[in-house]
Parts: sequence; C-alpha cells; structure tokens
Amino acid sequence: MQPPRPRLTAMACGAILAALAAGCRTAAPSPVVRRPSVEEDLCAERLHDLSGAILFYYAAHHRLPESPAVLASLGPEDPVPLVCPLSDQPYLYHPTGLRVQGQPGRMVLYDAVACHTGMRWGVFVDGGGTGRRLIARVVLVADAAVIAAEQRAAVAAAEAQPPADAPPAPADAPAE
Ligand SMILES: [Zn+2]
Repeated sequence: MQPPRPRLTAMACGAILAALAAGCRTAAPSPVVRRPSVEEDLCAERLHDLSGAILFYYAAHHRLPESPAVLASLGPEDPVPLVCPLSDQPYLYHPTGLRVQGQPGRMVLYDAVACHTGMRWGVFVDGGGTGRRLIARVVLVADAAVIAAEQRAAVAAAEAQPPADAPPAPADAPAE
C-alpha cells in the first residue's frame, strides 16, 4: 500500500542532482566575463582555417608570408576571407609576430578591434627554425595586452637599424 521505495527514488534524484552539480562546477563560466569558445565563434573558426594556411605556407617556404593576401589564396576551392565576420574589419598581420605578455609564441594575425566581449582573437605561432615544427593556435587575447604588444613592437622597430639589404622577393608567387 506504500508508494514504491520512496527513499530509493529520493536517493536516486539526489545522486543525479549531485552529478549535475559536479558537472556544472567543472564547466562553470568565470563570473567576470563569459568568453566565447573557439567552437562557437566564427571568427576563431576563420582564424583557425587561416592558421592552417600559415602552417602550409611555412612548410613550403620555411618562413612566414610577407603579406596575409597569400593565405586567402591557399584554399583554392574555398578561399578564406581575411576579415573578422563580426566586426567586418580586415585582420591585422604582423609578419615577424607580436610578443604578447602571458602568451607563448608570437601573434601574427589578429582582430583589428576588440569586438569579442572586449577581446580579440589572434593566431599565435611558436617553434619553427632548424628541425623544429611550427605550431599555430588561435587564442582570445585581452585588448590591453594587444595594444601593449603593438606599442613595444613600434618602439623596437624605431630603435632597430634598417636592414642593409632587403629580403628577396618570393620567386614563386602564386598566380591570381
Ligand atoms: Zn573577430
């Protein structure tokens, strides 16, 4: 005449709630600002495609491209626009890479404006050189860190002596 095993049902519910709570705890977003994930952000996806093009170019030429224009042409059947899909601003390209505080590697391609919850997506490359593989990754960076990196790079460029000889133009520039 009793309802079937009320205690067990309650215990099962408790266990499920505990599991849900545990799951929520590990995935809890930062209370400060919710960062867009790489998976859900079209800009990050686009930069991920372009980072693949950077690696492809590096594998063939053993250096980074002088200009980002070459990257768009590396996927002939599906060229990747060099523009942030959210801000509509062309990505900035830094062929020698920006050193961003707190980030390993150098940032070579990145958002012109901080349109992603006040942050910018950027492609960082690391490694390369003799016998080392170049690694690229897409990272969300604080706007202030990018601005500081740009300022440091501008100061370094102003202090640096201009090179005696210009780098040779690529002999095998892809046809339009
Ligand atoms: Zn963007």
